[in-house]
Amino acid sequence: MLEGKVALITGGTRGIGLEVVKLFKENQAEVILFGSRKESVEKAINNLKKEGLEVFGYYPNLSDYEEVSKTVDEIRTRFGHIDILVNNAGISANKKIEDTTSEEFENIMNLNVKAMFHMIKAVTPIMKEQKGGVILNTSSMVSIYGQPSGIGYPTSKFAVNGLTKSLARELAPANIRVNAVAPGITNTDMVKNLPKEMIEPLIKTIPLGRIGEPRDIANAFLFLASDMASYITGNILSVDGAARS
Ligand code: NAD
Repeated sequence: MLEGKVALITGGTRGIGLEVVKLFKENQAEVILFGSRKESVEKAINNLKKEGLEVFGYYPNLSDYEEVSKTVDEIRTRFGHIDILVNNAGISANKKIEDTTSEEFENIMNLNVKAMFHMIKAVTPIMKEQKGGVILNTSSMVSIYGQPSGIGYPTSKFAVNGLTKSLARELAPANIRVNAVAPGITNTDMVKNLPKEMIEPLIKTIPLGRIGEPRDIANAFLFLASDMASYITGNILSVDGAARS
């Protein structure tokens, strides 16, 4: 479904992002993953190699626009074009507002929102020159319903939806589609790190009766990245088993 496409995926070293990397490779894309550290990027690349999947990796500081822009330009020179950007890197939070420091709030906004802005700002001129592209952002179920603690996280994901819907309008004339995937609770390290008391009651509210697997979410990214979604832009696609909490 993605033959001949070059895809750049942030937060591609584990969890949802890693599954998107695998699925895009299985669908014949050239894939470049971004991670936060040299070690985790090398580990992911080596593990993928053992599965017969060759990908490339970088680890720019996503909070630093100059560094992001330099890396994106390097990738464009190396691979010739950038057709798909998946902005997936993200961190979550669960502390009550009284216990959340302003630094913690800022850290979440920096990665979940500002880094996304940096990536899109760096890639947009390339996609405009190519006369098209696809930008996909990882939102969350909490971008629709909020969550009972960890205020920085839902705040950042509401911002992701705003950015997605607005940029879809701004970039449509340049044939660049912008959509987001809003996963429900998904079986990754992010969820394994959350307290049981927070997760178990949530699972009980999911009509499909289970949490999502990374492949459930990656499938939505594949669809939106492909030409099958050629008339879809500005959408937030919920992939959450109809969870409504
Ligand atoms: P994860 O913790 O398994 O992976 C997070 C990824 O982000 C990793 O690849 C990591 O390298 C990258 N990352 C973390 N900090 C970074 C930094 N400072 N700079 C660059 N990269 C950094 O998490 P996941 O569950 O796979 O989450 C991926 C995305 O899905 C996030 O945006 C998250 O908000 C979203 N999401 C997850 C769930 C869930 O239940 N797991 C639900 C809804 C949305």
